[in-house]
Amino acid sequence: MRKLYRFNGGVHPPQHKADSSRQPIQKPPLPEKLVIPLHQHIGNSAKAIVEAGEIVLKGQMIGKAEGYVSSAVHAPTSGKILSVGFEPVPHPSGLNDLCITLIPDGREEWIALQPLDYPNMDPNALRNRLRDAGVVGLGGAVFPSFIKLNAANKKIRTLVLNGAECEPYITCDDLLMQERATEIVEGAKIMRHMLQAEEVVLGIEDNKPRAISAMKEAAEGNEIEVVAVPTIYPGGGAKQLIRVLTGIEVPAGERSTDLGVQCFNVATAASVYRAVHFGEPVLSRIVTVTGNVRHPGNYDALIGTPIDHLIAQAERLDGSTGAIMGGPMMGFDLPSTSVPVVKATNCVIVKSRKLFPEKPQPMPCIRCGKCAESCPADLQPQELYWFSKAENFGKAQEYALFDCIECGACSYVCPSHIPLVQFYRYAKSEIWAQEREKKAADLARFRHDFRLERMEREKREKAEKLAQKSAQDAKPMEKE
Ligand code: SF4
Ligand code: SF4
Repeated sequence: MRKLYRFNGGVHPPQHKADSSRQPIQKPPLPEKLVIPLHQHIGNSAKAIVEAGEIVLKGQMIGKAEGYVSSAVHAPTSGKILSVGFEPVPHPSGLNDLCITLIPDGREEWIALQPLDYPNMDPNALRNRLRDAGVVGLGGAVFPSFIKLNAANKKIRTLVLNGAECEPYITCDDLLMQERATEIVEGAKIMRHMLQAEEVVLGIEDNKPRAISAMKEAAEGNEIEVVAVPTIYPGGGAKQLIRVLTGIEVPAGERSTDLGVQCFNVATAASVYRAVHFGEPVLSRIVTVTGNVRHPGNYDALIGTPIDHLIAQAERLDGSTGAIMGGPMMGFDLPSTSVPVVKATNCVIVKSRKLFPEKPQPMPCIRCGKCAESCPADLQPQELYWFSKAENFGKAQEYALFDCIECGACSYVCPSHIPLVQFYRYAKSEIWAQEREKKAADLARFRHDFRLERMEREKREKAEKLAQKSAQDAKPMEKE
């Protein structure tokens, strides 16, 4: 039996998972309109390769990956492109982003799919196919998976599959593991092959007994170890799960790959399987719809489905006060429920005053230290709070601000009800903005210096030519 380890900190918020995990995964009816954002992943936006009026098939690429860190997007069904333009998207800023709007024709007509013979493929060609299939981390991080699946980067000894799903309310991975365990196992085998990993371990929190037994059955004979891990938030954080399963502590500022471990969400493994075995790009994902609704459950939703359409299937109850995308700890309030499902949409929680009472007014910090005790990243949240509040960003960085995974455990335990994570997010965004400005200023300075140098050089060359010419003119004429 595998030895398990503990990570420091962690909390036990109420689970609220039972409501949405009782029903099988449901397929909502095709919506009248799909809005597909071009930027659904970490990195550069995809570039639109269709125009308004074009007819597209299900699975057809409509946005091409741009640059190395990017990923493609596809038509989730067949139909006609209505527009390529700015639309509201699910982002805390509430800002619009470039999207492709598709009107489905109801025929669900597919492009010709090309399954891949992965054991005999060139590793880079296989990775490029995953990039073109739009495979990204579906646990919420949405980082392009082909980049993480590069055996040439670092020797990976252990491939960790993350089925912990530690955040309250969210049950999409639980249902996926219960119903599509074989897809996850087959995806894990492809990932193991790509990374040349020596072992594969799948961690699932012990509050999901049905998922554990389904995965154990599917993994039998495939050399994939399924391990029940203790239920504690945020046990599904990559570094935390790696610590529990392997004992490896990933130090501040380092990545698990530096220590021979790579981690993927179980839904990502399933999408790798579909991309390779059927040639299917990522067109849908499982979304938990829960909270103040009559029928909480999990929906296999096409990317671009309006969230309103999903909530209508679950039947919104009276007294709703908005919705959260993600869980109550790490998610954010949706600016509107008309925005589309994107690859990062694992859960939609319809709020009510009863489920989410108004938060008490924040009080001054009493330096009780509870936030530090709960922090799974071994940070000093109260210090980070002071530095972020005082806009002393240099000090915040010194105290490892960027190791904060924004899990919200510190805010959850704070007796003064200080929204600590909001301060960290603010500090991080300010630092990024300053870095962007600095880069822009450096670039402007470089261009200015380059232009001056070119002008000087041209002046010099001109002067030299003139001098040469006058020297030639001054030579005495040869006698004939
Ligand atoms: S838990 Fe809240 S009150 Fe206590 S030290 Fe941390 S920030 Fe201050
Ligand atoms: S939000 Fe950041 S500082 Fe707070 S407990 Fe989580 S990792 Fe620690």
